[in-house]
Amino acid sequence: MNSNIKKIAVFTSGGDSPGMNAAIRSVVRTCAYLKIDCVGIYRGFQGMIEGDFKPMDARSVNNIINKGGTVLKSARCEDFRTPEGRKKAHEQLLAEKIDALVVIGGDGSFTGAMIFNKEFDFPVIGIPGTIDNDIFGTTFTLGFDTALNTVVEAIDKIRDTASSHNRLFFVEVMGRDVGHIALNAGVGAGAEVILIPEENLGLERLLDSLKRSKKSGKSSSIVIVAEGDKSGKNVFELKEYVEEHLPIYDVRVSVLGHMQRGGSPSCYDRVLASRMGVKAVEALLDGKSNLMVGIADNTITLTPIEQAIKGHTKIDKELIRVSEIMST
Ligand code: ATP
Repeated sequence: MNSNIKKIAVFTSGGDSPGMNAAIRSVVRTCAYLKIDCVGIYRGFQGMIEGDFKPMDARSVNNIINKGGTVLKSARCEDFRTPEGRKKAHEQLLAEKIDALVVIGGDGSFTGAMIFNKEFDFPVIGIPGTIDNDIFGTTFTLGFDTALNTVVEAIDKIRDTASSHNRLFFVEVMGRDVGHIALNAGVGAGAEVILIPEENLGLERLLDSLKRSKKSGKSSSIVIVAEGDKSGKNVFELKEYVEEHLPIYDVRVSVLGHMQRGGSPSCYDRVLASRMGVKAVEALLDGKSNLMVGIADNTITLTPIEQAIKGHTKIDKELIRVSEIMST
């Protein structure tokens, strides 16, 4: 272990996701266990620039493992994109005698952390926190599993009303320009059609698929649309398109929105966060830096942050095939 590091700061940045609190708790408790001082930084890079710090011990993180959001708050910070802003942040960290950082966030936060590391040779380790699961170097990001459960629960409810009225529902889910939430939740909720950015199904095939579904005697249909879908139409335009071309359907739209980012984290996300927090602190104390903690084959891994930012996650082709078979 590298004895130079005596004080570690942890913060959350960018969009929040369920499991961030469990990760904060893990970093704080690991520091306490290893007798390293720990500081929480409020509001991400903005709080770093303003010196919004709070010492944290094992008891500061009681009863947060089950809470959604982040107790340290999150923020976007334009000042951190400038050398002057980062210089101020560096001065604040030095004044507080902070030796290393654990950043919990998405690729934007990692980019900021990587630039900061290069400019000041300041040790940083990243923990991927985003519901979108769009970060290279980890099979799961914190919050993805919880978001899937939230989406599946919502679609189950929509299905109840859809089947009572023989309706077709378009349900838009989050995921930015990747379809991981749509594909996984779509299979989990038994959607008839799943539209994801990685596969352009085409509007003709969508109509064919819906016709087949109707013909086979289904009383309701659910089409999951990832927000970044590349069919060229948004979810409301898709509704109009289908109404025009398939008037047999009574079509409704549901945009799930920010409810997908909230809620108590699933057991999987809590366990993952706990494991990632331990690894982040241990990696720093081993003298490692500029790495992101991830998980692959149920083993905790470390990937260079630069790769995590630049790499692209791949959609699971096998799951696409399964979804096609299931919609028979
Ligand atoms: P989400 O998954 O919700 O988008 P994120 O971490 O990617 O989370 P961003 O808003 O992209 O969220 O980034 C968070 C913050 O990271 C920014 O507000 C900014 O302070 C910092 N940041 C992002 N990109 C850079 C950059 N190129 N240089 C310096 N700082 C950056």
